[in-house]
Amino acid sequence: MPDARRPAVRGLKAHLPHKLCQHCQRPMAWRKAWARCWDEVRHCSERCKREARATSSPPRAP
Ligand SMILES: [Zn+2]
Repeated sequence: MPDARRPAVRGLKAHLPHKLCQHCQRPMAWRKAWARCWDEVRHCSERCKREARATSSPPRAP
């Protein structure tokens, strides 16, 4: 049974915004969890956020 009754679902992902992770450079798609902070999201995961923080210039440089 085709889901012709819900055509909006089809291709929805293509319309979602996406950007590259600042750390691993992988494309990450918009997530509902980021609806409120999409502009602030720069990393695809907590791990990338942590690693980016560790590798990039620390807030307190010696
Ligand atoms: Zn990443």
